[in-house]
Amino acid sequence: MPKITRKAIRKPTEKSCGSVAANRRQPKSVAASSRQAAKPKKPPLRATKPWTPAEVREAFTRFRKANPEPKGELEHLNAYTLLVAVVLSAQATDAGVNKATRELFRRADTPQKMLALGEEKLREAIRTIGLYRTKARNVIALSQKLIAEFGGEVPRTREAIESLPGAGRKTANVVLNMAFGERTLAVDTHVFRVANRTALAAGKTPLEVELGLERVIPAEFMLHAHHWLILHGRYTCIARKPRCEVCLINDLCRWPEKTI
Ligand code: SF4
Repeated sequence: MPKITRKAIRKPTEKSCGSVAANRRQPKSVAASSRQAAKPKKPPLRATKPWTPAEVREAFTRFRKANPEPKGELEHLNAYTLLVAVVLSAQATDAGVNKATRELFRRADTPQKMLALGEEKLREAIRTIGLYRTKARNVIALSQKLIAEFGGEVPRTREAIESLPGAGRKTANVVLNMAFGERTLAVDTHVFRVANRTALAAGKTPLEVELGLERVIPAEFMLHAHHWLILHGRYTCIARKPRCEVCLINDLCRWPEKTI
């Protein structure tokens, strides 16, 4: 009679319960997803080494050389229309705002004319801009306030501008800078990204970044710093795919993921 032999059954050890042995018995998709789940989360890369004063000066000297008189892209006719354009630009693109305000400002370029136009017609004129109902209400209310409290003129102090409906710190900084030549620095999404990526002035909030930039940028560059950084963020240091290969400051930039 032939001898019956039994195969020894290997008891699973702690090691064999690990991914390789376990994955052998699992369908591919399950194995892949368990591998993904086990993968530790990659912390975001951050530039940490601060810029030296000489490097900051060098960066802004290059910006100035390339574009000595940078201009904002929000179209306006005077301080009042600039204020209205900035209020309308919250969470909207400059191009989108310009498209609506070109005709609007031909009809209403003062608070008095805006009130004469009325909220309904204003709403109609800006209906292509996001949040247009709230923005129309704010523009009418700020026009009323300008007439009632500021003689129909845009005030020249931060506190007064920030007291207007729909206007915050960023609006005040843009108006003070562009209409009155003050050395203020508005932090929008582009400036925020560039300051953090490059490590020029890292910060978690726009205010933190604004104060950080004010600390490091030499006074002689402050008047135009806002526009240089916005234009750099909008056309070169683009959110999804920065154009590091043509970037003026790629040798100075601290971003660990820069592509050059
Ligand atoms: S090198 Fe790249 S990441 Fe750095 S500032 Fe220039 S475009 Fe932005």
